Amino acid sequence: MVKLCKFSADCYFSSSNAVTLDGHLYNVDHFGNRVAALLYGPDKVFVIVGLNKIVSSLNDAISRVRSVAAPANNVRLNRDTPCVKTGECVDCRSSDRICSEYTLIKRQGVKDRIEVIILPFSLGY
Ligand code: SF4
Repeated sequence: MVKLCKFSADCYFSSSNAVTLDGHLYNVDHFGNRVAALLYGPDKVFVIVGLNKIVSSLNDAISRVRSVAAPANNVRLNRDTPCVKTGECVDCRSSDRICSEYTLIKRQGVKDRIEVIILPFSLGY
């Protein structure tokens, strides 16, 4: 039987803003809907990322989001935020800000629940 609610789904597919070399997943969301199901709910989660999402450390993950992922998302969503003009996060207070929920997944309590699939090319931002 197919489950329709994201939290009770059998499988959930997502990407990640950055994956550190030690396997930590760093994400920034507007409403938290994407990361919510990464954190809890679906029996199995597949995180599919390109090589461009792999970073050395948490600091590099944060930098990647601030200088690549978040500005690009703001451009895609046609937001009126400073990073659209500068390409760099200034931790704005704009009403158009999309950066709200910052999450770092260091470990899963349920063994093998999250599987990270790294594709050998650049994918997304
Ligand atoms: S906090 Fe503001 S400036 Fe920084 S990336 Fe998010 S929307 Fe852009």
